[in-house]
Amino acid sequence: MENCLLKREEWWLSINILSPTLPQRYIDRLSADLPERPEELFNSLDRALLPAANTIPANDSHGLGKVFMTRVIEEMWRLGRMQGGERYALLLFLKFQLEYLHVLKDGTKDYHRRRHESKEINLALADLLAEIRAKPTNIYIRSHYYRQNIPYFNAVAACRRLRKAMETFPCKHRGYHPDDDICIHKNLAAALHLLQKCAYAEVGSNVLRAVGKRLPKEISDHVREFVMLAEQVPMDPRVLVTTGNWGVGESRSAYSCPKLLIKKA
Ligand SMILES: [Zn+2]
Repeated sequence: MENCLLKREEWWLSINILSPTLPQRYIDRLSADLPERPEELFNSLDRALLPAANTIPANDSHGLGKVFMTRVIEEMWRLGRMQGGERYALLLFLKFQLEYLHVLKDGTKDYHRRRHESKEINLALADLLAEIRAKPTNIYIRSHYYRQNIPYFNAVAACRRLRKAMETFPCKHRGYHPDDDICIHKNLAAALHLLQKCAYAEVGSNVLRAVGKRLPKEISDHVREFVMLAEQVPMDPRVLVTTGNWGVGESRSAYSCPKLLIKKA
């Protein structure tokens, strides 16, 4: 039975690789024969994510949620390491953050677990972005004021999608203490921080690639500002800032929960 399943061509059309009940030995064997194009792998993961999540029971005594989380992170890394797979890794990240963590299980009110999982996948994405940028084969840009590897993530589109989702989600903020930050907006602030910084670097590098050598620095800086405006990337991409001992990782006011902003006003 097992061999039959594993020998099937295009197994990813019928087997859910994210399913937490699928034994690890299956995953190991299947991983040796994956779709070659990142788009195809992403499409199968896109279809697999919510059905796999739905198999996790509310009283998860076998730790299936943790296995599921690990599998999603592994597949995000796999996409990120494929040629041209970087932007698909971001799409999987967004799917996990927006469609699994913050929508699917809304009835459970399990904010603390979600917050933990949200942090975990943010950390994984931050590590992945760092690894991708450090790859010597990635596009190498160098000028008198800019030196960085920027592969194509389409982080600009990812930011827009995340910001739109944050505007749409209702605010459930309940208190001022950091431990009360149960609201989706606060959970997603770190993700937006990560993506917005990535989008800022991406726009900067695209402008440099297009006009960097042809225009003086002052003019290309202006072009960069216009493009940032057009792409809705703020000139200060930080969402989180350090505000003294008590405010490490505080959201800047422009990104605070709507309820919190109303209370402050
Ligand atoms: Zn909120």
